[in-house]
Amino acid sequence: MERTIVRCAEGHVFSTASFPMQNLGAGRIGPGRLLRCPRCARLRHSVPVAPEKG
Ligand SMILES: [Zn+2]
Repeated sequence: MERTIVRCAEGHVFSTASFPMQNLGAGRIGPGRLLRCPRCARLRHSVPVAPEKG
């Protein structure tokens, strides 16, 4: 199962297996999605975090 690393509006970074990637192509990182942040314990506006690159 592939997981996506995301960051919530409060700055918490967590992984999710339910991030809908269907419409997210290269260079098309949109405004994010509402996901349940485990740290906030509520729905937060979250955006995918790009893997670290050199
Ligand atoms: Zn959070």
